[in-house]
Amino acid sequence: TSRVIEAMALSRRPIRLPVSLSHTAYDVVIGTDLISRAGALLAPVLPQKRVIIITDENVADLHLPRLEASMQDTGIRFRTLIVQPGEQSKSFATYERLVDEILQEGVERKTTIVALGGGVVGDLAGFIAATTLRGLPFVQIPTTLLSQVDSSVGGKTGINTRWGKNLLGAFHQPLSVLADASALTTLPKRELSAGYAEIVKSGLIGDPALFEWCEKHGESVLNFDPESQTEAVRQACAFKARVVAADEREQQGSDGRALLNLGHTFGHALEAELGYDGRLLHGEGVSIGLRLAFALSVKLGVCPQADLERVTAHLETLGMPARIRNLPYSFSATDLMVHMQRDKKMQDGRLSFVLVRGIGKAFTSRDVPAELVREVLLEDGCAP
Ligand code: NAD
Ligand code: MG
Repeated sequence: TSRVIEAMALSRRPIRLPVSLSHTAYDVVIGTDLISRAGALLAPVLPQKRVIIITDENVADLHLPRLEASMQDTGIRFRTLIVQPGEQSKSFATYERLVDEILQEGVERKTTIVALGGGVVGDLAGFIAATTLRGLPFVQIPTTLLSQVDSSVGGKTGINTRWGKNLLGAFHQPLSVLADASALTTLPKRELSAGYAEIVKSGLIGDPALFEWCEKHGESVLNFDPESQTEAVRQACAFKARVVAADEREQQGSDGRALLNLGHTFGHALEAELGYDGRLLHGEGVSIGLRLAFALSVKLGVCPQADLERVTAHLETLGMPARIRNLPYSFSATDLMVHMQRDKKMQDGRLSFVLVRGIGKAFTSRDVPAELVREVLLEDGCAP
């Protein structure tokens, strides 16, 4: 019963995590049953009692009715636009269709765009908000673990082009973020673990206490325990908010937002090699990439072997993808290296890697010899 009471307390009083940036400040509100109370939670920050909700078909079936009801109850006028689920909706075509419908509605400068969905909906809706009428107010209601801990904090929005992912975008900070653990109850387990990889990443970059917390409570996060999920989201958002506050527009090169790419150079290469076709989720690539970043750091002699073992044990205990050789697809080290060299984070033709001196001690380096990267890939199960 104490758990029930705690859960009720949690649902009544959500946690407010302030994010303060140079020109704006907003709260990430974290708790349960937030979507069904969204109207009341958002009313104080909306400049006009009028919103455009953007969501995808999956989320519309599962969570839209509660959001719409709460808007109705609080007298907020809304219009809902629904896109197909999946990365292909972060496209020029979808962007054009939605902007066209929004303009046809006769929106005003104060009409707020509300993103209800995962990172795809958040990035697309955010970019629409950033660009329509040179900028509309924006609210994020992230419904995947990944979007709650990662994409909804930081203000990056955008769509994909044929030349690569996220190449067209804008920084556009939300008025508010509602991270509702109740939304996660319908999330497929595989999506949940993929999002969890980004939480582990935060700990490994610069928050050893968060990584220790993950070692203790990661299993309950992945078992859909709402209290653990709320706490994990709180810690990961707090971490990302600190990094973003220090380097709002990713200009600090070495030690700012760039650190958030720990595990991502490897992860992106794996995703790109499979053609971003969804066989490997982003967070699954990151999970393997985190271990590879530790393995590379050990090889370079900058990180204790024991930390690599601890990271590996954590990922494997939770059944997260940890090694390339355990994936049901084969990869060639040469092909993966080609993708890494094309990574958009490349500067002056040299690859920038995020390495670690240990758990919670990430740093960037541009002096990583290609042969060592190759060795790490071969040792992890790649073909030459
Ligand atoms: P997603 O938005 O595609 O969602 C994954 C799947 O889960 C989709 O099929 C979706 O319909 C479904 N879904 C969403 N919420 C659900 C729920 N509560 N219950 C059941 N199903 C649900 O993917 P994602 O992993 O959330 O986000 C990935 C995107 O985020 C990528 O496009 C990536 O580029 C972007 N991203 C952006 C940032 C940023 O800073 N802006 C950071 C990280 C990732
Ligand atoms: Mg990521």
